[in-house]
Amino acid sequence: TPMAEHGAVVVIGLGRFGASLARELTSLGVDVVGIDRSEAVVEALRDELPFITCADATQDAALAELGVAEASRVVVAIGSDLAASILTTSRIMRSGHRRIWAKAITEAHAEILAQLGVKQIVNPEDDMGRRLAHLIRGHMSDFL
Ligand code: ATP
Repeated sequence: TPMAEHGAVVVIGLGRFGASLARELTSLGVDVVGIDRSEAVVEALRDELPFITCADATQDAALAELGVAEASRVVVAIGSDLAASILTTSRIMRSGHRRIWAKAITEAHAEILAQLGVKQIVNPEDDMGRRLAHLIRGHMSDFL
């Protein structure tokens, strides 16, 4: 079982967004501990990401076993399962001081995450749409 070291980034949920993030961090030399509840998702990424495991992040026991509490940076990249996103985020927030990024897929989702105290909320499609608007308008310097 991969245990998160202090310097590792834990990525919970390895869908398109989480997997892309985990791959890029890995290629930058950052240790990534990836978690997804789907065995098929984990198997498909096994060769690319050295420390991934299949677990349900809403289970405190799974978070403890993975050493999530020891990691200084955690990304909750669960999207469409709102309850799983909120419960996982809430438990991680409760278990101590660390930097947390969480993905929101709707305004309501973002509102709840903000209420839980998450400072860094990302909505990939929203953010990308806004960035593309700047690209199209030709303000390349805004696209950073
Ligand atoms: P994307 O657009 O990034 O593909 P999405 O918004 O469709 O993502 P989901 O499919 O809801 O997001 O979640 C992304 C991943 O999170 C999925 O691979 C899913 O298996 C995983 N996931 C969902 N709930 C949990 C959970 N409780 N524990 C661990 N992983 C989870």
